[in-house]
Amino acid sequence: MPLPAPVKNPKIQYTQIFINNEWQNSISGKTFPTLNPSTEEKICDVQEGDKADVDVAVKTAREAFKLGSPWRTMDASQRGVLINRLADLIERDRHYLACLETLDNGKPYNVAYNVDLELVIRCYRYYAGYSDKIHGKVIPMDGDVLTYTRHEPVGVCGQIIPWNFPLLMQSWKLGPALACGCTVVLKPAEQTPLTALYVGALIKEAGFPPGVVNIVPGYGPTAGAAISEHMDIDKVAFTGSTEVGHIIMQAAGKSNLKRVTLELGGKSPCVVFADADLDMAVETAHFGLFFNQGQCCCAGSRVFVEESIYDEFVKRSVERAAKRTVGSPWEEGIEQGPQIDTEQFEKIQALIKSGKEEGAKMLCGGEKTGDKGYFIQPTVFVDVEDHMKIAKEEIFGPVMQIMKFKTIEEVTERANNTIYGLAAAVFTTNINKAITMSNHIRAGTIWVNSYDIFSAMSPFGGYKMSGQGRELGEYGLEAYTEVKCVVVKIPQKNS
Ligand code: NAD
Repeated sequence: MPLPAPVKNPKIQYTQIFINNEWQNSISGKTFPTLNPSTEEKICDVQEGDKADVDVAVKTAREAFKLGSPWRTMDASQRGVLINRLADLIERDRHYLACLETLDNGKPYNVAYNVDLELVIRCYRYYAGYSDKIHGKVIPMDGDVLTYTRHEPVGVCGQIIPWNFPLLMQSWKLGPALACGCTVVLKPAEQTPLTALYVGALIKEAGFPPGVVNIVPGYGPTAGAAISEHMDIDKVAFTGSTEVGHIIMQAAGKSNLKRVTLELGGKSPCVVFADADLDMAVETAHFGLFFNQGQCCCAGSRVFVEESIYDEFVKRSVERAAKRTVGSPWEEGIEQGPQIDTEQFEKIQALIKSGKEEGAKMLCGGEKTGDKGYFIQPTVFVDVEDHMKIAKEEIFGPVMQIMKFKTIEEVTERANNTIYGLAAAVFTTNINKAITMSNHIRAGTIWVNSYDIFSAMSPFGGYKMSGQGRELGEYGLEAYTEVKCVVVKIPQKNS
C-alpha cells in the first residue's frame, strides 16, 4: 500500500482524562503541556491526572470488573469481537494515528505508519484470537474427586507505559489484559499522551463497556506512583527505566503485594564473528542500534567484533552512520528524527562527553544538529573498553559502541558481564557458534543474523535487571490470569 502523504498538524481531539467511557478534567484542575520534539514547541495542554483521578479510575475499573457486570458476563468470544473491532478502528484511523504519533514522539512518519501501526494492529488481532482460548485443565486425581483449574482474569490492572513506542506499548499492555477479561487503568508517558487518549475514544466506539479501560495522563511520581501503590489494583505492568522498575516493585511490596511485570532497560550485546556476511552484519547492527533514534530498550549498544574483521567493520559502520539521514520526521527518506525531550538529549550528550573523557575514540557524530528540536548526529565510538560508562550504561540514543574480541569464550563472558539481559544478537555463518552463543548469552531474546524482528506471537522480556515476566505470545497471557484450582468431591453412588 502506498504511504499516504502526512498531515503535519493533525487535529488534536482528546486531551482529557478517560474514565468510564467519558472525558473529564483533572480533579486538581491542573494541566501539563506536551511538546513537539522536532520544534520544542507546545502542541497542547493535557489534563494532569494524579492520585485523586487514579482513585476514581480504579473505583470505576473495579465496578466494571464486578461479577455480574456486562464485562464479566460477556461471552469470551465477544471480548475477541470487541478487540478485533478496536483493531479495525485503528486500521481505519491509521493515517491519523501515525501523524499524531510523529507529532508527539518525533519518530519518522513512514516508520510510525509502516512499523508501529502495523505491529499495533497485529497485536490487537493476535490477542483478540486468544479471548476464547484461555482455559484451564482437568487434573486426574484418585477416586471420588474432580479437580480442575480455571484461568481467571487477574482483576484490575494498572499499566504504566513509556514514550518510545506509545501506541505499541499500549497495545502490548491492553491486548492481553482485555483478552483475559481484566479491567485497566493505564497511564501513558507524560511526553506522549496524545495517541493513547485517541485510542480511548476508539475503545468507546468499539463498544467496550464503560470502565473496562480508563486512561489517566499524568506524571510518574504522582499518577504513576498512585497506581503502583494502590491497594485496590491487583496487578501492575510497567515498561520504562530500571530505576523506576525498582520503585514500582517496592511500592507493590509495601502496598498489597500486587502482581508485577516489568520491561526495563538493556545494554544488549551484538556479536559479530569474522565468518559473518559483513555487509549484512554492518547494516543490521546499524539498524539494531540506531532504529527509533536509539530509543529502544533492546538497542544493540555493545557491538563486539572479532579482531580480524574489526578495522573493516569499523570503517563500514562509520560510513553507514555518517550517511544516516537526520531531520524533520515528516520528510521522505529521513531515517532519524529528534530525541524525545531535553532531558534525554542532555543525558545522551553527557554520556558522549564521558566516552571522550574516558578515552574511547569518537569517529563520527557527537553534536546537536539543526537549530530547533532535540536532534543528535549518529555517533560511533570505537576502541571502547568494558569498564567505560558508555559500555555499561543505557544511553537510549543514537550512539554506537564498538569493541574488539578474540575468542568465543572471551566474548561470551564479556557479553554477559552486565546487569541487564534483555536481548542480544549473533552474526555468523557457523551454526555451531550461533547455537552455542544463543544458549550461553543470558538474555530474553537472541537474534541470529538479524535484529529487532518483533511479532505479537513471540515472547519478549528480560533476564536479570531487564525485567520480570514476559510480554507477547501465549506467555504474555500468564501475567493477566490467576489460576484457581477447584476440587469437587463426588458422592459415591452406592454408599
Ligand atoms: P521512566 O522510567 O521515568 O518513565 C517511564 C514511565 O514510568 C512513564 O510513564 C513515567 O511517567 C512513569 N514513571 C516515572 N516515575 C514513576 C514512578 N515513580 N512511579 C510510577 N511510574 C513512574 O523513563 P524516562 O525518565 O522517561 O526515561 C529514562 C530512561 O529510562 C531512558 O533514558 C531509558 O534508559 C529508559 N527507558 C526505557 C524504556 C524501555 O522501553 N525499557 C522506555 C523509556 C525509557
